This record gives sequence, structure tokens and C-alpha cells, in this order.
Amino acid sequence: MEEGNTGLLQALSSALGPCGFLTKDALASRPTSLWNSQPMSALAMARPKTTSEVSTVLRLCHEASQEVVIIGGGTGPLAGAEPTSHRIAISLERMNQIESIDPVNAGCVVQAGACLQTVQEAVASHHLLFPLDLGARGSCTIGGNISTNAGGINVLRNGSMRSLVLGLEAVLSDGTVVSSMNKLLKNNAGFDLKQLFIGTEGTLGIVTRAVLRLFPQQPDRRTAMIALRGFDEVAQLLQLAKLKFGSMLSAYEVMWQSYLEEQLRFTGRRSPFEGRHAFYVIIETEGADSQLNEAVLTETLETALGDDIIADAVIAKSEQERRSLWDLRENLEPFLIDKPSFGYDVGVPIGDMPDYVKLVESNLKCRWPDSICYTMGHIADGNLHFFIKPGRKDARREDCDEDVYGALESFGGTISAEHGIGYEKRAWLLRTRSAEEVAMMRSLKNALDPKGILNPGCVFE
Ligand SMILES: Cc1cc2nc3c(=O)[nH]c(=O)nc-3n(C[C@H](O)[C@H](O)[C@H](O)COP(=O)(O)OP(=O)(O)OC[C@H]3O[C@@H](n4cnc5c(N)ncnc54)[C@H](O)[C@@H]3O)c2cc1C
Repeated sequence: MEEGNTGLLQALSSALGPCGFLTKDALASRPTSLWNSQPMSALAMARPKTTSEVSTVLRLCHEASQEVVIIGGGTGPLAGAEPTSHRIAISLERMNQIESIDPVNAGCVVQAGACLQTVQEAVASHHLLFPLDLGARGSCTIGGNISTNAGGINVLRNGSMRSLVLGLEAVLSDGTVVSSMNKLLKNNAGFDLKQLFIGTEGTLGIVTRAVLRLFPQQPDRRTAMIALRGFDEVAQLLQLAKLKFGSMLSAYEVMWQSYLEEQLRFTGRRSPFEGRHAFYVIIETEGADSQLNEAVLTETLETALGDDIIADAVIAKSEQERRSLWDLRENLEPFLIDKPSFGYDVGVPIGDMPDYVKLVESNLKCRWPDSICYTMGHIADGNLHFFIKPGRKDARREDCDEDVYGALESFGGTISAEHGIGYEKRAWLLRTRSAEEVAMMRSLKNALDPKGILNPGCVFE
């Protein structure tokens, strides 16, 4: 037990029992997060099993003015779920149950530690769809998805996590449980309190349970990868796809040439296409009628080919081929393996993307002539991701931030389209939000967490 905190640690240990409380020595075998393989360092870890236990943990920590860090799947790239030696980690990993699935009301009740993929698969067995989907689906949790307002590959059809949460339960910093487990699509009775906990990165409370919105699962899914000569064509194809597919269009993901080529080089795979092309798009459509779905996809690609919008296309003929196309987009290993490598998640209006990307690349080349910028994105949502290899061991993240975020200002972009602010983007918050907006965020934080014990320093300096 840590000197000075002995009483608190003993109280937590006896409240939670041996499965629910891990000492700091027991944490040494855990990595800090998916992005940080250093052994986890924390005063201790609380692993509550129920909302009532979460409440007890926070009440005790609040009384002792003890700082805590909330941990979901640890897949968030901004260090938001990474504890430090003087904080208590609270992991929701034992609160991972799917409590109920209701096909009639198209909703399900889950605990916040449930893994996203587990939820997707559980509702699929009832012919229902939970449409949030992202590369980290096998590790991230619903609580983390809510707290970061996760986006992913299906936002253009179903919106981000905010549009998929009907209700939730959260525990405030002093242990108060606020149950707002609404199951209705429409409920305007007073303030919509759940919004306080969506996208606020665990700074206002711990999400413990949620009611998620479900949709009918469409039996037919088509996936194609398309090669294009320029960004104008990428934007034209998006317009055409929206027009032809309507609500059947579920994903429109774009890779710049260097991104796909690095993926192929690293994995040793062959390109799905004969020649080299400037851009590659993955389109996915989902519908009830397989013949109609196939016909619309074929006709759209033929029209685009005839009008010289696209250069080439391949259509996945099996789930294995589909997965193989998606792996070219979702496998991030080639971009992260050599250090330093700096990842970004920014938002820019679609029409400005080519100019913005060129500006970032030229900024980087001026600073680091050997740098390479690998770009891909959920461009239908105005969202780009960069993986930047500066080509120098001594390169500093702060300099890279200046080149990427500084260039955003003239385009009216955002420093975070989907990952949040965490600890890594705090210095830039005031360059993307007004002083009044940040002041209001701080007022909310002070009102709900007056002692500042929840994820201190996350979002705000
Ligand atoms: C391969 C890969 C692909 C990804 N693709 C996408 C993508 O397409 N779109 C996207 O949006 N993100 C993406 N991400 C980022 C990440 O997966 C998401 O941010 C995800 O929502 C984080 O969930 P988590 O459970 O891992 O949360 P964590 O990383 O554990 O935590 C994230 C933040 O939420 C807080 N938090 C966690 N649980 C709770 C809770 N129950 N109550 C209150 N606060 C909590 C943490 O304190 C932290 O601040 C990707 C990550 C990887 C590794």
C-alpha cells in the first residue's frame, strides 16, 4: 500500500474484493494502452463489477480528493485512458454484459465495458444492426465509444456515436448515480442530460450503462474498391454514389496513393489493380434486395467508368475478399511501426481537402525534407487521418502539430473530427474553439467535478 493513501487503498480493496482491486505491482504486466506498450503505472486499479461499486469507488476517491483515470479498451490514441503513478485507474472491464436486446423497440441495454464487436455480433443474431464500426472494434468499449463520440466508417449513413445513444447511466465525481436510461426516440422532457457524457472524454462522469439504438440488418452487402486519377473525381464519385445509392450507401473511404502503396510494400500483398493511381476509394452499400443492390452498384460503376470519373474498379465476391480489401485500409501497422510516427485526425470541408493536404505536405517537406505523409480518411464526413513519418529520429511532435494544425486555420477546419482532445491536443483547443466556448466547457467541468478528480488535465490544460 502507498504511504499517504493507505487508508483509501485499504477501503477500496475491502469494498471491491480481490477481483475488483489490483495493486500497483499487479499492473506491471499490463501495457499502458494499445498505443503505449510501457508497463501500466498507477497507484492501483479499481475494477468495479456494478454501478453501485463504481459509485463507491468515486465516493471514496472524492472524499480523499484522489485523482482517477477511467479506462475502457485503451484504443484511444490521445492518451486519455493512460494512468500515471499518482492516479487510481478505474477499469470498466468487468462491466461488460449485454443486459437485453429489444427487437420491437430497436434498442439494447449494455454495460459500458462491453466490447463494440461483441455488441455488433449479439444484435446481429437478432437480425439487428448496431451501425457504429471502426478498426478497433475488437478491443474498444461502448463506454469509450460514448466518451469519445466515436465516428468510424458508417457515419455518413447513421451518424456518430451521439446519434446512436438513446439513454445512459453515469456516475458523477462524488459517487452520485444519474440514471437517464431513456429508451424512446423522442423525449424532450427537460434537458437531454446524456449529451453531457457523450464526447466529453470521461471528464464529467463515468458512463456505466447505455441504451443503444438499433436498426434492421440488411441482408445484402456489396463492397468495391475503386481507383481514381484525381481528387475532383473522388468528390464527383461521392456525389454520384449518394445519388444512386441513397440510404444504401454505408461507407465511402479514401486512401491517397502513398497510403495504399506503403500498405502493399509492408504486407507484401499485390495491388488489386494493374497500374498506379492517385486515389483509391472503398465503397460499401447495404440493402434488402440483393439483385437490386448488385444492379445499382454495377450500373453506377459503369456510368462512372463511361464518364471517365473512375479509372478501374474491383468488386468483392466473398466475405473473405471483402475483408481483404478492408484490411488494406484498416491495418495501421505499416504506419506506426517505425518511430517517430505522428498520427492525426482532422476535419476539413471536402472541397478544400486537396489544397489542405498539399499545404501540409509542403510544410512538412520544408521542415523535414525526407518526411512522408500517408493520408486516408472518412472523407464523406470531412475527416482526414495522417500518419506522418518525419524521417528524422529527433523530430518533435510539437513541430509537426504546427504544420498540420496551423494549416487548418485558413480552411476553417477542426483539430479533432472524431478522437477528441485527450492530453495530446490540449494546447490547440483554443485555436479551434472560441474563448467563450472553452470557458463554458470549464464551467461545466467545475460544476460537475468541483475537485477535478476525473481524468484531470484531459481536454483542458
Ligand atoms: C485500429 C484503430 C482504428 C480506429 N478507428 C477509429 C475510427 O474510425 N473512429 C474513431 O472515432 N476512433 C477510432 N479509433 C480510436 C478509438 O478506437 C476510439 O476512440 C474508441 O472510441 C475508444 O474506445 P476505448 O474503449 O478504447 O476507450 P479508451 O481508449 O479506453 O478511452 C478513451 C477516452 O474515454 C474515456 N473513457 C473510457 N471509458 C469510459 C467510460 N465508461 N466513462 C467515461 N469515460 C470513459 C477514457 O478516460 C479516455 O479519455 C481507432 C483506434 C484504433 C486502434
